[in-house]
Amino acid sequence: SKHNSVMIIMKFGGTSVQNAEAIRRVIGIVRGRMAEKPLVVVSALSKVTRQLCSIAEAAQGRREDEFRELLSALRKRHCDLAAELLPEGSALLQDCLGRIGQLCDELEDFVYGVFRIAELSPRSYARIVSTGELLSSVIVSAAMNAAGLSCHWADARRMMVTDCNYMSAAPDLEATEANVRREYPALSKGASVILTQGFIASSVEGFPSVLGFEGSDYSAAIFGMALNASRVEIWTDVDGIRTADPRIVSDTGRIARLSYDEAAEMASLGARVLHPLTIEPARKRGIPVVVLNSANPEGQGSEVSFSGEGAGPKSIALNEEVEFLRITSPKTGGAAAMLADVYQVLASEGLKSGPETVSESSLNIVLEVGKTASDNAVRRLREKYEVQVLTDKALVSVVGRDVASSHEVLSALLRKSAPVHMLSASPSMLSVSVVVDKAVAKSIVSALHCEYFG
Ligand code: ADP
Ligand code: ASP
Ligand code: MG
Repeated sequence: SKHNSVMIIMKFGGTSVQNAEAIRRVIGIVRGRMAEKPLVVVSALSKVTRQLCSIAEAAQGRREDEFRELLSALRKRHCDLAAELLPEGSALLQDCLGRIGQLCDELEDFVYGVFRIAELSPRSYARIVSTGELLSSVIVSAAMNAAGLSCHWADARRMMVTDCNYMSAAPDLEATEANVRREYPALSKGASVILTQGFIASSVEGFPSVLGFEGSDYSAAIFGMALNASRVEIWTDVDGIRTADPRIVSDTGRIARLSYDEAAEMASLGARVLHPLTIEPARKRGIPVVVLNSANPEGQGSEVSFSGEGAGPKSIALNEEVEFLRITSPKTGGAAAMLADVYQVLASEGLKSGPETVSESSLNIVLEVGKTASDNAVRRLREKYEVQVLTDKALVSVVGRDVASSHEVLSALLRKSAPVHMLSASPSMLSVSVVVDKAVAKSIVSALHCEYFG
């Protein structure tokens, strides 16, 4: 179907809205895109989601002083920010402080409830963490109006519908698309900018849910799909998608263009610049995803679309948040039954698995760390199999079209990575990964970066 030729999505992450200076920059960037009728998606202010997690856990753990203190710091940070951005004595400031106050009062009541019963269900947890995006969006929306942008605040929970897996909810794309299209005409009427929240949603049961940490990118792509946007812009704190995480390697290069496949592969292997599910809705409608730096808006960024550039290494990804499992069957003779058992357990515990290798009687597999879920899975698997859990390992991957079939790529990878505990190529040949000791993973990433891009 045709692109909605005059509308784009602009998503701003936590660091892009972390303080008044950053928010003023955001307003300047959005002002420059007014002709493209932006729908703006914001995250919570930086670190707020994590603080809300600490608040929820302190309440459950009956640490009253701790959560009270965190709650009042949270309220103060948001009120101070509103006061800094909005004209003193204005109705906009009054109204904004009123909304912040109400959101914080409701949050405190709710957290106090968790404290009283000392129990934190995923549904209650999601209710608590969803407050971050409500707070940030109320402030950014008021600041835009104060700057003369005529901004309409929209509640993402009225549009984004998910299942009942509250803390890592899966959106119902069809229902969400229908809701977005139904709400959009009224939202865009008389407004030059629509502002909504990433990450937060409502379950089919009607309670607040969240898409999983870092999920605002995914929200932005879903809004883009629903509205046939001509572009989804992900504004963050780096100059586009790089040849490696700039926090690990100092001399990374910008990747000007990459394919949906390559970007999805990178994200699923741990490069946190995009949430792994972001590509899917964009690819569905062929909408380009552009990654840009809100601290350097003149920078060119990276464009993800059907057309990447040539084959060969594009980027190196590191994932340190993994568990490495070695599962052995006491019986030999066919891996099929063992694989069926393992995947049945992983799926029922809601665990995501990464690269793996299989033999007749054993399986090596990389799992995303999932606290109690992986403990449960391991306990269940040990009823039948011998399971070794290694937590001191990390996953290093080289990503790019056809890297897994390149002799040069593979030989450099093996020369620089030692000791290697597992080697695996993706069936698509888009990546090749090694499991190495966490202690040396960063230096391996640097050495590989030098080899491929130096
Ligand atoms: P936001 O809060 O805007 O969503 P994130 O912190 O989630 O920002 O994502 C941006 C971060 O992703 C960067 O600061 C960078 O450290 C990290 N990152 C990891 N791999 C890459 C990569 N290949 N290119 C760019 N950034 C990367
Ligand atoms: N605020 C949420 C988080 O920190 C969602 C996001 O920023 O993408 O995980
Ligand atoms: Mg992010």
